[in-house]
Amino acid sequence: MPDRNRSRRRLPAAWRSPQLRAALLVIGALCLALIPLLAGSLGASPSAARVRAPATLGTPAIGSPVAIDSAGRPSSANPYAHLPKGCWPEHLLTGRDSVWAFTPCNALEVLPIGMRVQVECTLDRLRKGGWDPLVFETYRSDRRQQFLYSYGRTRPGKRVTNVATARTGFHHWGWAVDIIHRTRHWNHPRFFHWVGQHAEACGLVAGAFWKSFPDFPHVQFAAIESMSRAPTWAKRLMAENKRDSLWLIAGAMSPRGPPPLALPVSGVAVGAMP
Ligand SMILES: [Zn+2]
Repeated sequence: MPDRNRSRRRLPAAWRSPQLRAALLVIGALCLALIPLLAGSLGASPSAARVRAPATLGTPAIGSPVAIDSAGRPSSANPYAHLPKGCWPEHLLTGRDSVWAFTPCNALEVLPIGMRVQVECTLDRLRKGGWDPLVFETYRSDRRQQFLYSYGRTRPGKRVTNVATARTGFHHWGWAVDIIHRTRHWNHPRFFHWVGQHAEACGLVAGAFWKSFPDFPHVQFAAIESMSRAPTWAKRLMAENKRDSLWLIAGAMSPRGPPPLALPVSGVAVGAMP
């Protein structure tokens, strides 16, 4: 107690004012609050933002590409999970999902890169011309091809394809795409004329211009004229289910970057249709 009284007596009279001491306390608190902010902006010490950053690194962005391992193969348990189920290989479509084997896959990601560039060129040119194109189908499974082939044969309706198994068709190998009108679907002859014009300008073959069996929405890879007239090496690789080699030799795969997503090729023909 005596010590305290002594120190109080040594202070000048102005410092003993309670208002001044309160003002000094407020200024001190403000300074303490500003120090970390100033230090962070100058980079002198880890700021709050820099400490928080690593916590957000593990969150993948929506729509990010599938993880690729060192061999360039998808590395997650189901590498097709980011694609519509109609694009999944048949062996993953079991139980209630088996209905998706008959649903068209319309993802451009399943195409070899060269083919995809030509299809995107066609879509761009159509949009610039004021059209509203819709990609209806890209990859086609064997089960879906057999389902389509049955129309007009074992199933009522008009024939929609002359290809009995997907393995002898361009869609199965990522070499064909069907483009329809977004609102009028297959019912717009002038639109399909321009699909054909732009597809051919982008280096594709247009089914719209085929004489004997025109296939209006269909555009396909031009390096292989037809499956029956495919070169021997192509027929051999198809028989061996070597899709990657087929794409590489056909020049449909980019030499840069990871290979496009390669869907496993169907094995022997699948059993009876439901
Ligand atoms: Zn087609």
